[in-house]
Amino acid sequence: MRGLSEKIAGIAPSATIEISNAAKRMAKEGIDVISLSIGEPDFDTPEHIKDACIDALRRGETHYAPSAGIPELTEAIAEKITRENGFPARQDEVIVTCGAKDAIYEAMEAVLNPEDEVLLLDPSWVSYEPCAKIAGAKVRHHALDPETFQVDDTLLSAVGPRTRMIVVNSPSNPSGAVLNADSLGLIADICRDHDLFALSDEIYEKLVYGKKPVSVASLPDMAERTITVNGFSKAYAMTGWRIGYAVAPRAVIRQMEKVQQHTISHPTTFAMFGAVAALRGSQDCVEAMRREFERRRDYIIPAFSDLGYTTAPADGAFYAYVNVGGDDMAIARSWLHDAHVAVTPGTAFGTPGWLRVSYATSMENLQEAVGRIARV
Ligand code: PMP
Repeated sequence: MRGLSEKIAGIAPSATIEISNAAKRMAKEGIDVISLSIGEPDFDTPEHIKDACIDALRRGETHYAPSAGIPELTEAIAEKITRENGFPARQDEVIVTCGAKDAIYEAMEAVLNPEDEVLLLDPSWVSYEPCAKIAGAKVRHHALDPETFQVDDTLLSAVGPRTRMIVVNSPSNPSGAVLNADSLGLIADICRDHDLFALSDEIYEKLVYGKKPVSVASLPDMAERTITVNGFSKAYAMTGWRIGYAVAPRAVIRQMEKVQQHTISHPTTFAMFGAVAALRGSQDCVEAMRREFERRRDYIIPAFSDLGYTTAPADGAFYAYVNVGGDDMAIARSWLHDAHVAVTPGTAFGTPGWLRVSYATSMENLQEAVGRIARV
């Protein structure tokens, strides 16, 4: 066979794969593995959202749609952003994508040139670096303060002449941290001073416990240089629907539309009608799920503390980020093989020495897992 793409060959498989494959193997052998490595809500999509999708399907919404998404949805998103996120968005500044992940990838394709650098704040979610690399760009990592998980002025030293974008993810996967006003102010200053784009991944914005996340685009003069990414997977338990979106200046959206037109065309038409119902319908379902995640968080964080571990500030998302100090890969292996509990090593997020523990599972599973870890 001829040589394959060096660009893709150069992308490392995720460090999460070894543990998750081993966990699957064990489960197949009949071992009762508790998976705390899950990145999706364990709830079903609310009924009124499913109904809206089924209705659309039955009415014949089975054809191509505009490449930026159905107008009903881009309008609902523009209104949601203007109402909730502190900056005005027009409908033509919105693109609906196949999940937030696709929005991130398309945004990077849309604004980056070869040799441009994307700055990631570690610990950072696993797909930012591969998306940047597939788009042909390079990545530079900067470690957040390992106690507060906030930004300080050392960030400035990480900005180089080719830096073009900073990725911001608050609330964070994996740390659960919510960036405070000082952190966001520093990021905004750097973006303005160095003419950078901010890619603000706000997918966990609804899953917060006492803190209110602030949209980067709402800061002075930031809307013109921010690509806000969000979606339906986490807030509405819609991971399998593959509906996300980006809100950005028109010039960026126009570029993203070209990527979309010539690749995926647009997300599934009838699924987009479900997303309209998610935004236009009652938000009680979001609050009910948020409250349940909070109840689990209030159990798991003190439980790890009782086991002698410190954790990152768990102010949002559904992850406890546990400081295990030593070799996270070895500890994750030991928890899997000796306690039959699967977690995600911090190495996957650029921060060895930590484990990400998802609490998107039942309280019963969490309690059983903690008991097993205590006995290892
Ligand atoms: N960003 C972050 C931080 C995530 O954790 C995830 C999902 N794991 C995504 C984006 C992608 O979400 P979607 O299902 O909308 O593609």
